[in-house]
Amino acid sequence: MERSLDQEFLRYDRQMMVRGFGLEGQKRLKQARVAVAGIGGLGSAASLYLTAAGVGYLRLIDYDVVELSNLNRQVVHWSTDLERPKVESAAMKLTQLNPEVKVDAVNETITKDSVTKLLEGIDLVLDGQDTLQTRMIINEECVRRRIPYIYAAVYGLEGYMTTIVPHAGPCLKCVYPAECPQPEKVPVLGPTPGVMGCLEVTDALKLLTGIGRPAIGRLIVYDGERMSFQEVVIKRNPRCPVCGKLKK
Ligand SMILES: [Zn+2]
Repeated sequence: MERSLDQEFLRYDRQMMVRGFGLEGQKRLKQARVAVAGIGGLGSAASLYLTAAGVGYLRLIDYDVVELSNLNRQVVHWSTDLERPKVESAAMKLTQLNPEVKVDAVNETITKDSVTKLLEGIDLVLDGQDTLQTRMIINEECVRRRIPYIYAAVYGLEGYMTTIVPHAGPCLKCVYPAECPQPEKVPVLGPTPGVMGCLEVTDALKLLTGIGRPAIGRLIVYDGERMSFQEVVIKRNPRCPVCGKLKK
């Protein structure tokens, strides 16, 4: 028992040195129950870093199988995983990376009907989706449950990210009030979802441990072509059909 505690101290040594993090922050991570919704490019980076950081419980949700055309960016899946369900492929790597983390592989689609069950008992959700439609379903459920939802999306060398904390700032519908566009196949340079997935995890770890200033009410825009970051201030819409009726 003591030996395993020593090993945990060693494993998390560097992050516990971060200002404000400490042993208390590590204990909070260990108690946290986090979902990664989609194990593609964003979800690969997000699930690897969440696991490495030592969150207590991680639920991976995806219904796809690994395809060859995924491998330029979905780094948790390898050439030996083709045709395998993505959640299984990821869970295998993640438990090897950090056996302290309980990883649950849920091979299901997120729909209006399934979302409540899929996010049951979860403290925080990280976005790894590829359509705005599904993200809106997750957004609604997170607002209803009042749990944080960290949004990210990529296109080519561009990325977008914001942290939604119901009450504290706008929700995804406040940011994108228009009708969702039809899903399409988009270009993606491999590292773009890696950058954005890492930004998601950074804010997730901050929210879970209580350090720093998360991107609430700010849309972070990454431009890999010019190598720059910008932010757009976003306000909560008092008439938002999703979060507008939330009472303090
Ligand atoms: Zn809203």
